[in-house]
Amino acid sequence: MAGKTLDALFYETLKDIYYAERKILKALPKMKRAAHSEQLKAAFDKHLHETEGHVERLQQVFEIIGKRAQGKTCDAIEGIVAEGEEIMEEFKGEPALDAGLLAAAQAVEHYEITRYGTLKRWAEVLGMKDAAKLLDATLQEESMTDSALTKIADQVVNSKALKAA
Ligand code: FE
Ligand code: FE
Repeated sequence: MAGKTLDALFYETLKDIYYAERKILKALPKMKRAAHSEQLKAAFDKHLHETEGHVERLQQVFEIIGKRAQGKTCDAIEGIVAEGEEIMEEFKGEPALDAGLLAAAQAVEHYEITRYGTLKRWAEVLGMKDAAKLLDATLQEESMTDSALTKIADQVVNSKALKAA
């Protein structure tokens, strides 16, 4: 059977998440600046550094499949980041700002988790163990970030968001 097979789909999806990671790299410093909570600022800063590593790992996966690292516009991440920017504008200086930023950041993490989960499985199916390992390493960091954000939401942000400043 001729036509586009799983390896083609893997490559297309790799370009999608590569675009998304670089978009996130630009969004995180803005979110850090906007955040009120020091814990949230620190969490964004930590994940910014991790995200630099995610981009590098993806470049290694492109190398493994013998393709040039390149992104393809990802409408999903464009939408998620745009919603985050809307929250930053509409809730600027308001008590619920950080809760909104957290929600936006978790939407980003969940998008990444679904992408990396899929890519890891496909890499395994395609017999690319090293690629699967790289993708799994990032998947773990995205999941840990999501959990860390949930903790910050529960411990510091959501209760403050209930009260007027
Ligand atoms: Fe990432
Ligand atoms: Fe992430």
